[in-house]
Amino acid sequence: MKECLFCKIAGKQIPAKIVYEDERVVAFRDINPKAPVHILIIPRKHIETVMDVKSGDRELMGDLFIAARKIAEKEGVGESGFRLIQNCKADAGQEVFHIHFHLLAGRKLSWPHG
Ligand code: AMP
Ligand code: ZN
Repeated sequence: MKECLFCKIAGKQIPAKIVYEDERVVAFRDINPKAPVHILIIPRKHIETVMDVKSGDRELMGDLFIAARKIAEKEGVGESGFRLIQNCKADAGQEVFHIHFHLLAGRKLSWPHG
């Protein structure tokens, strides 16, 4: 997607602090962090929301979780814990319409969120 911010970050057309990348997944630090560790994990494939995930994306969705685990290990929060958040559409406050997980960690996170 030409005009998508996260596609541009994945394609290195817009700079970001990339912390992890492989053939299918890219992760980078959120520009406006809500916790000491705040990383966004995206598929390279442009999928707008959870409502656009197809059966054929099954393996790719698993890749996002595997990346989350690797990043948590690298950031040293695999034992202390972290939260993975996925905002879908207006009521959840989704701002960027390229599917992503927020990985938040490094402080005690309150629950329920919001
Ligand atoms: P969401 O509300 O779930 O769509 O989250 C979008 C996230 O993208 C927000 O937490 C923003 O701070 C973050 N964000 C927006 N622009 C950038 C950027 N250029 N680099 C890194 N993170 C960004
Ligand atoms: Zn995109």
